Amino acid sequence: MPVPTIKTDIKYIKGVGPAKSALFKTLGIESVEDLLLYYPRMWLDRRLETEKLPPYVEKDYVFCGKVVRAFTHYTSSPLMIFEAVIENGASKAHAILFRHRNPRFDIMSKIKTDFQVGKELFIIGKQEPDFLENKIRVEEYYPVNYPQIKRHVNSLIPVYSSTEKLSQKFFRETVFNAISSHINLFEEILPKKLLIKRALPTRNEAIANIHFPKNLKFLIKARERLVYEEFLLMLCAWEFKKRQISSSDKNRRYEIKRHLLTPFKENLGFSFTNAQKKAINEIFSNILSPKPMSRLLQGDVGCGKTVVALSAALLAAENGFQTAFMAPTEILARQHFETFSKLLSHLPVKVALLTSSLSRKEKDLIQAETASGEIDILIGTHAIIEKEIVFKSLSLAIIDEQHKFGVRQRAALRQKGENTDMLIMTATPIPRTLALSLYGDLELSSIDEMPPGRKPVKTWLVSQEEAFSKLKEEILRGGQGYVVYPVIEETNGEIKSLKKEFEKFKMNFPLIKAGMIYGTMKTEEKNITMSKFLNSEIKVLFASSVIEVGIDVKNASTMIIQNAERFGMASLHQLRGRIGRSEKASNCFLVSENPSKEALERLNAVCRTNNGFELSEKDAYLRGSGELMGVKQHGELELSIANPVLDKNILFLAIQDRDELFATDPDLRSRENTILRNKVIEMYGSKWNLIDAG
Ligand code: ADP
Ligand code: MG
Repeated sequence: MPVPTIKTDIKYIKGVGPAKSALFKTLGIESVEDLLLYYPRMWLDRRLETEKLPPYVEKDYVFCGKVVRAFTHYTSSPLMIFEAVIENGASKAHAILFRHRNPRFDIMSKIKTDFQVGKELFIIGKQEPDFLENKIRVEEYYPVNYPQIKRHVNSLIPVYSSTEKLSQKFFRETVFNAISSHINLFEEILPKKLLIKRALPTRNEAIANIHFPKNLKFLIKARERLVYEEFLLMLCAWEFKKRQISSSDKNRRYEIKRHLLTPFKENLGFSFTNAQKKAINEIFSNILSPKPMSRLLQGDVGCGKTVVALSAALLAAENGFQTAFMAPTEILARQHFETFSKLLSHLPVKVALLTSSLSRKEKDLIQAETASGEIDILIGTHAIIEKEIVFKSLSLAIIDEQHKFGVRQRAALRQKGENTDMLIMTATPIPRTLALSLYGDLELSSIDEMPPGRKPVKTWLVSQEEAFSKLKEEILRGGQGYVVYPVIEETNGEIKSLKKEFEKFKMNFPLIKAGMIYGTMKTEEKNITMSKFLNSEIKVLFASSVIEVGIDVKNASTMIIQNAERFGMASLHQLRGRIGRSEKASNCFLVSENPSKEALERLNAVCRTNNGFELSEKDAYLRGSGELMGVKQHGELELSIANPVLDKNILFLAIQDRDELFATDPDLRSRENTILRNKVIEMYGSKWNLIDAG
C-alpha cells in the first residue's frame, strides 16, 4: 500500500479493489482527489422531520416501522413483486418491491428474511397514487440497526451521477471511506483573508460536508464555499487569458472603404435596427483596432445576427482579407451560403461553401481557391478546421451558434489565421452581467431588439388532434408548418417517431404535400427537401431537432412539437424561433401526453413567456443545480457545482474579490496568493492554453 496522498489510486480505498475501480474510471475517477471532487448531483432529504429546502435538495419518502404482514406475489415475467405491510405507532405503509429474477442469486429468500414479521425497518421510495392505502414503491430499505445507518437514512444523502453498475449505496460507502482516510490530505487553496472576509468554511470541512452534511446549514455553507472557489478559479483564469490576448498585436491595418458595404446596405431590402447598428459599430471598432477582436454577439433567435456578421466580413473583404464562417450543421451552412450569395450577387465578393459531404474534386477546388485567396468568404461546417484547409490571408473568423461547438474547435479556427479577429454568435439567453463574467475573455454585444413588424410567437399546450387541425387550417390559408419529433426511429413504441409518423401523415393526408428532414439523411436529399420547403412546394416539414439552429423560412408560421416534454426549455425556445419570422401571426403547439409535474411546469413556462432571459432563470430554478440553459454545452465552462444563475450572488462576490486580488497583486505571485495561482494554472493552464509567464 503506497503512502496515502490525494493522488492515491482509488483501488486502495477500503472496499474498492481493481474491478470496482475500473468502473469508477469510466466516470473519469481515478484518484482519491477525483473521487472527492466528484460532487453530488443533488441531495435527498431522508430525515423523518421536514424543513424548508433549497432547490438542490429533494425530499425522499421515508417510513420507519415494524413488519406486521408479509406476502409474495410471483409473476411470469422476469420481474418479481413482493409486498409487505409495515406499521408504527402512528401510521401504516404498504410496501411494494419490484425485483428482477437473478439466476445466480436467490433474491426472494433474502427479501423474505429481511421482511420477516416483527423486523423493524426503514423503507425509502416513492409514494404511489392510491387513495386507500399508503402505498410505497420501495427503492432502498435498511434494518434499523444497520451499521452506519446515518449514511443512508435519517440524514441528507448525496446522489451521484453514476452508472448502473455502481449503485448509489456503494458510491456513498466509497466516498465515506475515502473521506475517513484521506480528507486531511486536502490543502487549502484560497487565501486566508478571503475565507475570513466571506465567512467560508475551510476546504476540508467543505468537501466532507458536501458529501455527508452534518445538517442542512452545513450543506448550504459547504456548497457556498465550493461554488465560490469554482467561480474564483475560473475568473482568475479568464483574467490571465484576457491579458495574454490583449498583449498581442495583429499587424494589419484597415480602412472603411465602403465600396462593398454601401451597395450591400442599399440592396438589403430593409434597414438595420438600432441594436444591429450598435453591434456593427462595436465590431468595426474592434476590427479597426490593433488588438485582435474576441467578441460575443448575443441576441435572441430571429433578431438578425447574420447580417451583422456579414457586414464584418465585408469590412475584411474591402481590405483584401478573408473570412471563415463556421456553422454547426450542414443545413445551416448551406442556408447561409445561399443567403450570402444572394445578398452579394451584384458585388465582387466570392463566397464558397465547404462541407464534408462535397466530393473530393469539389473540395480540392475550394481548398485551392482558399489557399490562393480567390475566395473571400468561406462558409462551412467544422470541415473548415480540417488540416488541409489553409487560408492565404484569413483575418476574421465567425462562429455561428457557438454553443454547439467545443473549445478545441474554436481554438482550431482561431489558429487558421494569425491573431485572427473572432466573432462568436449565440442565442443563449444569459443576462449581460453573467455573460460578461462567464465568457470572461470576450467582449459582448447584445442585440436586444427584433426587426420591426414581427409578431411574437404564441405557444400553446394542446392535444395532438387540436394541433394538427390548426396546422391544416393554416395550410388551407396558404401557410406552411413544421412538425418536430424528439426521436427519428422507433425503438420501443413508447414514443412517437419521426419516420413512422411521417408515413402515417402521408397516408392520411395525401393531398397535403409533406417532406421529412433529419441530420443523418443524405445531403442531397436534405438539400432538395429544404429548397422545396423554402419555395413552398412542401407545405409541412416533418423534422428532427436538426432544424433547431438557424433555419429561416419566413412563410412557415405554425409548428407542432411532439413529445415536447423530451426537450429542454432552451431547445423548445430555439425551435419555436423558426417561426414568427414575418409579419404573420405564428403559433407553436406543444403536444405532451401525461407530462410529469416538473415537465408540465417547464412547458407552461415556455407557453407563458417569449423572453429567453426569463426562461433561462426559470430553467435554472426548476432544475435545481447543474445545467444552465444552453450553457452546459459551452465547453469552456464545465462547472462542476456552481450554477451561474442560481448562484449569481456568489458570482458577484467572487468578481469583487478577483478585482481586489489583481489590483493589489497583479500576477498573484505574493506568498499568500501563490497556491491560488498554482491551482488556476493546474486547472486551466493547458485546457485554455494559458502561457505561464515564468
Ligand atoms: P438570428 O439572429 O436568429 O441568426 P437571422 O440573422 O437569421 O436571425 O435573421 C432572421 C431574419 O430576419 C432573416 O430573414 C433576416 O433577413 C431578417 N432581418 C434581419 N435584420 C432585419 C432588419 N433589420 N429588418 C428586417 N428583417 C431583418
Ligand atoms: Mg442565426
